Amino acid sequence: MKEKSFYLTSLGCAKNTVDSSSMAALLLQEGYTQVRRPSHAKLLIVNTCGFIQPSREEAIHILQELARKKRPGQFLVAAGCLTERFSRMVVEQVPQVDGILGTKNWMDIVSLAARLRAENPPKTLFNLPESTQLSRDEVGVSRATVQGGSAYLKIADGCHRPCAFCTIPLIKGTTTSRPVSAIIQDVQNLQEQGVQELILIAQDTTSYGWDLGLKDGLAVLLEEILKSTPHIPWIRLLYTYPGYVTNRLIELMASQPQILPYLDMPLQHAHPGILTRMRRPANMDWVYKTLEKMRKAIPGLTLRTTFIVGYPGETETEFQTLLDFVAEIRFDHVGVFPFSFEAGTASEPLGDPVPPEIKQERLEKVMLLQQDISQQNNQAQIGKTLQVIIEGREDTISVGRSYRDAPEIDGLIFAEGKAAIGKIVPVKITGALPYDLLGHIQQS
Ligand code: SF4
Repeated sequence: MKEKSFYLTSLGCAKNTVDSSSMAALLLQEGYTQVRRPSHAKLLIVNTCGFIQPSREEAIHILQELARKKRPGQFLVAAGCLTERFSRMVVEQVPQVDGILGTKNWMDIVSLAARLRAENPPKTLFNLPESTQLSRDEVGVSRATVQGGSAYLKIADGCHRPCAFCTIPLIKGTTTSRPVSAIIQDVQNLQEQGVQELILIAQDTTSYGWDLGLKDGLAVLLEEILKSTPHIPWIRLLYTYPGYVTNRLIELMASQPQILPYLDMPLQHAHPGILTRMRRPANMDWVYKTLEKMRKAIPGLTLRTTFIVGYPGETETEFQTLLDFVAEIRFDHVGVFPFSFEAGTASEPLGDPVPPEIKQERLEKVMLLQQDISQQNNQAQIGKTLQVIIEGREDTISVGRSYRDAPEIDGLIFAEGKAAIGKIVPVKITGALPYDLLGHIQQS
C-alpha cells in the first residue's frame, strides 16, 4: 500500500461524479496514485449521495462494507451530499469513518488527507463548511468528467428554487454559478482532448448566471461556448426549469446545429393543484404553449421529463390529469419517481399519506402508458439514418446513442458493425424496442 494512494467511489448523479473527478484531479496533482482496489489504497473515499432515503441507505451500506475490510493504516473518508446534512448519523452508523468532508467543500480533500496521514486522529475529523453557500470551486482543476467521447460539465451548483419536496437547497445552498471564463477554459480543454459531446449540467441549468447578474444566462453562456469551441459537434442541455426556457434559448437551439434538439425539462406533475402544493410553476397553459412552440421551431425535438407520483394529497382525479397529460404530449422519455418523504423540506408538514402500494400502482400506470408511446416514437425512427456516438462494443455489435438519448437515463442503439469508442458514426435504423433501437453502421 503506497503512502499516497487513494480509492474513490462515486455515488448518485452526474453532478456528484464531476465533484469526484475534481477531487481525484486534486489528489493526482499532489502526487497521489489512484488505485482500483480498496485493499491497495491508503485513503478510501466514498463520495455519497443523500438526495432521498434509498440513496442514503446505499451510501451507508457501501461505507459499512469498506469499514468492515479496513486495515490498520487505512483512512476512510465519507464525502458528498449525505455527509453535508447527516454527518452525525454517518459516524453513528459507521464509526470507523476517519474523515467527513462536506459536499460544499470537496476541494479540501487534499488538506483533509494530509491531516489524516500526519495526525492519525483517534476521532473522526469533520471538515464541514460554516457557510450555507457553496465554496468557491475554481481551484485549478477541471469541473468536468469525461466518459468515452462525452463529458459532463458543471456550470453551476446549488439551487434557489423553492420546490417543497426537494432537499438540494438544504444540502447545497443557493445557486452558485461558475464564471463564464472558467467554463470556457474547461470547454476548450475538452475540445483539445477530442470530446465529441458536451453535456451541460447544474441543479437547474436555466438558472445559470442568476447570481452573477446575467439576464438569460444560459443563452449567453451557450453563445460564448459556440464561439470558442466550434469543433465539439454535440452540446446537450440537461435539467431545465419550466418557465425559464426563454425565447432566446429556443431560437439558439433552433438555429445552432451544435446544440442538440433535445430538451430535458422535469415537470414533476401536470395538475395545477399538485404543482402549487409542490411550490412549482403551476401555469400549465405556459407548458402547453412552450412545448408547442419548441416543437414547431425545432424539427425532430426530443423531449424528456420526470414526474413524481404519490405526492401528499394526490387524488385519483389529480393523478388522472397527469396520465391524460402524458398521453397528450407524447414525450420521448419519461422518468417517474414515487414521492419520498424528506424531513426538513417545505413538504414535511404534509406528511406522506399516500400508501406505498398506491404510489407503485400509479408509477406503473404512467410507465406502461409511456412504454407504448416510446415504442411508437421509436418505430417512427426505422429507415432513418441517425448519427450515433459509440460508447462500447462487443464482437461485431457497437453500442451508442443518438441525439435523442442522454447517457445513463435514456435508451441505446445497438448497431451491427465496428466503430471506435467516442466516434460519431451514421447508423441506419432497422428495428425498434420500447426504449432502444437496432441498426447497422453505414460506411462513411
Ligand atoms: S429545481 Fe430541482 S434541485 Fe432545485 S429545488 Fe426544485 S427539484 Fe430541487
